[in-house]
Amino acid sequence: MKKYFVYSVFIVFFITLILTGVVLFRTEQALWKKATPAKGKESISLADKQEYAQRLAKALTFKTISFQEAEKNNWEEYKNFIQYLEETFPQVHTTLKRDIVNEYSLLFTWEGKNPSISPALFLAHYDVVPVEQETEDQWKYPPFAGVVAEDYIWGRGAIDVKCGVIGLLESVNYWVQQGYQPERTLLFAFGHDEEVGGRNGAKKIAELLKERGMFPEFSLDEGMAINEGIIPGIDSPVALIGIAEKGYLSLELSVTTQGGHSSVPTDKTAIGILANAICKIEQNPMPAKLAGPMRWMLEDLSPYMNFHMRMVCANLWLFESILTNIFSSIPNADAALRTTFAPTLFHAGEKENVLPTNARTVINIRLFPGDTTEKVTEYIRKIINNNRIQIKQFSPEKTDEASPVSDRNGEGYKAITNTIREVWGDIPIACALTLGGTDSVNYVGVAKNLYRFQPLKFTSEDLKLIHGINERLQIDNYMNGIEFYIRILKNVGKLSP
Ligand SMILES: [Zn+2]
Repeated sequence: MKKYFVYSVFIVFFITLILTGVVLFRTEQALWKKATPAKGKESISLADKQEYAQRLAKALTFKTISFQEAEKNNWEEYKNFIQYLEETFPQVHTTLKRDIVNEYSLLFTWEGKNPSISPALFLAHYDVVPVEQETEDQWKYPPFAGVVAEDYIWGRGAIDVKCGVIGLLESVNYWVQQGYQPERTLLFAFGHDEEVGGRNGAKKIAELLKERGMFPEFSLDEGMAINEGIIPGIDSPVALIGIAEKGYLSLELSVTTQGGHSSVPTDKTAIGILANAICKIEQNPMPAKLAGPMRWMLEDLSPYMNFHMRMVCANLWLFESILTNIFSSIPNADAALRTTFAPTLFHAGEKENVLPTNARTVINIRLFPGDTTEKVTEYIRKIINNNRIQIKQFSPEKTDEASPVSDRNGEGYKAITNTIREVWGDIPIACALTLGGTDSVNYVGVAKNLYRFQPLKFTSEDLKLIHGINERLQIDNYMNGIEFYIRILKNVGKLSP
């Protein structure tokens, strides 16, 4: 008996030793995957940054606000913005072909010398979200005044994402003025309704491209950026490139009952039935998966992490379930692991002493790649398990399946990572899953690969400015963004005099 005990202890000790060895070896091995530093690059000098800042600031003065109800939009402002672009970048307008699509969206085509290479597509939008009236006095500078002060460009759209529209045009202008021409065709698509889904802007541009038989090798859109202080175990800034984005679905659940006087309630009231259904949905989230972009992100970043995080992320085969549990408790991380459910509307009742005959609720759902609208609707139906509840899509025109996952070894991805290193040096770069929606979703089936990377650096404080009060962009941050666009146009467009 004693002999067996000694054997067992020995075997446990031996297995632990091997596991520890493997874990430590893989932790060390992760370091070998560090990227090699960027090679020699050409120097780019951008003259007066104040002028660049002023041109963006002026662009912020146009109230190109996308309201949920399109009839509230001030279309004059949109037209004036388009005219402002013409006046500010005349050479771009004479060198590139411009299409005005569906009245307000813009497609610029910079014809390449070699039509056999598939084009590259750069995306941005110039509509902005409204400023809530009651918050207007909390802005340090008025949101549509276009102020440059204290080293910042202030105003609605500074970050999201007029800086993309103006920044891209600045970078085209930079090369056009020097008489450069691309080898491959470069396309620039600027939507006018991204903030309400892009169905009248980006979608129409995508249809036009299809009609013309133009299927870009890749597209580059907003959606991810360089972030500081958001990845545990890494102090330096991290560049994240979105290679997929979650889908969008809203389900309306409704129930109709007898109603009646509230002095003699039935045991199954409309409100009770729906409330019960919502509880079930909240208590039964879809399973978390440390898969796809999120998993690759941790693997890509492991070489740059401190020892403890590196040990965990380089050994997901062992620590996956522990890590999944930790991430599940952090809302931002949890949303990157699964399809999420959020009850956002609930309507029932008119009078305090009457049982409502009808109650309805809307669950807003963000779909994880691989979870289709059909599969998730079925999941909800099963969880609720009550055939008195009707389920249907709410605002089906807004429904989007999760995007396909783009190739993280593709030409476009490599060009983006190389250009990031040219501008920001050897910072960690990883792929990621974009949680919010972008215009890119409208180009599925048109662009072969869809990438989401806005060339700006954000702290977690900066991220609150997006759609928020005091939206502003630091001038040097913006200048780096322009440099990124200038370099990537050269890199992918093979520009030459
Ligand atoms: Zn945006």
